Amino acid sequence: MAEEKKSKLAYEKKSAWLLISENEKKKVFEFAEEYKDFINKGKTERECVNYVEKIANEAGFKELSKAKYKAGEKIIIKNSNKNVILAIIGKESMSEGINLIVSHIDAPRLDLKPLPLIEDSEMALLKTHYYGGIKKYHWVNMPLSLHGVIINSKGEKIEITIGEDENDPVFVINDLLPHLSGKIQGEKKASEVIEGENLRLLVGNIPVDDKDIQEKVKETVLRKMNELYGIKEEDFISAELEVVPAFKARDVGIDKSMIGAYGQDDRICSFANFRSLIDFEGIPDKTILSILVDKEEIGSYGLTGIRSKFMYNSIGEIYSLENPDYRESELRTLLTKSYCISADVGAVINPMYKEAFDQINSPKMGCGMLLEKYTGSRGKSGASDASAELMGKLRKIFNDNKVIWQSSLLGKVDEGGGGTVALYLADLGIAVVDSGIGLDGMHSPFEVASKVDLYEAYKGYKAFLKDA
Ligand code: MN
Ligand code: MN
Repeated sequence: MAEEKKSKLAYEKKSAWLLISENEKKKVFEFAEEYKDFINKGKTERECVNYVEKIANEAGFKELSKAKYKAGEKIIIKNSNKNVILAIIGKESMSEGINLIVSHIDAPRLDLKPLPLIEDSEMALLKTHYYGGIKKYHWVNMPLSLHGVIINSKGEKIEITIGEDENDPVFVINDLLPHLSGKIQGEKKASEVIEGENLRLLVGNIPVDDKDIQEKVKETVLRKMNELYGIKEEDFISAELEVVPAFKARDVGIDKSMIGAYGQDDRICSFANFRSLIDFEGIPDKTILSILVDKEEIGSYGLTGIRSKFMYNSIGEIYSLENPDYRESELRTLLTKSYCISADVGAVINPMYKEAFDQINSPKMGCGMLLEKYTGSRGKSGASDASAELMGKLRKIFNDNKVIWQSSLLGKVDEGGGGTVALYLADLGIAVVDSGIGLDGMHSPFEVASKVDLYEAYKGYKAFLKDA
């Protein structure tokens, strides 16, 4: 290779693959295998919480009621099976501030409507309402699985997973064949090619042999659901059933350098987040928290979104172990002395659509974890906008701990935009910055991430918990 003259002063994004040792490369691939297990088993918020709870229990985390205030104590707090907080008590008083990492475990998908089951043209179908920002045309003609819970008339919880086991049936939303779609779809905008009401899941075709029943195919589905789960149609009203891709995570690329999977926004950051805390070596100076939240994709509202009081109250409860009679003002002051990483994904440059990205500021696949000063829309709207001081602090922590990271922004100015939970943490006075992992094909059913970026984020989060 011809020697290029390179400035010693200029900033450059370099492939992390060329910066890590052979030994580290091995760890990168091993960590990716552990992550694939998580992403395959955690296809809903509840499944993610169950997964985290299991490994946290194995690692000695205790529920708050059994926990004591002592350095090194490990605590787990759950909220409605859709949020989880892991904490390790530090050597210093919490009144000096805490370090926390927040990421979300909800992902774009299709939710069943409260009364989903209909029959049309000899087919039984389930009506859905999409959750989060999807391109509706992504969701047709591929195998889909159904996950969730149904509360029956007795108030019992029935857990359902159909379509993950190789012997399970799967479901599908059929698009119109190209032979007949010219008039109906041919001239439509991409956002209208598949309409929301047409995201209907094919679930049955055999009619019951019963003259008295009008909707015979629907009846077969009801009878089958009754046989398998003991439910009636009314039970769907008290259910949360999520439709997600039925396939598993796969290595992408002949070099197996990347992972393709459903739900990587934001379960990839969530995995690096909770693992960095569970794997924390020794006792931290400050109390450290890993927080997994729900509802980010639809505005962070609701009981399990970051805007609820769950996190605030939980930090208060942990603080009460140390200071049982604390005043609320002490909790508020504690938060203003705290540091947070909002661990969410970013968008790496897609070489086919370069015009959407800022070639200098957008991140590149495989060039390390992301450090993002702001994530917002037009005119930075909705951005928390981390201060120069905080960016400087994070940059120094990453550099001191030999974490490979890259400066990141979401696309070009006025190209679109997005948001994270960062602003809601800033509302509490917490110094917060976005720092996550780059994805290609974000919000699609099969998002792609680099294994080395995942590993560097894990290292970066560990360094942050230790040194912030
Ligand atoms: Mn996200
Ligand atoms: Mn998202």
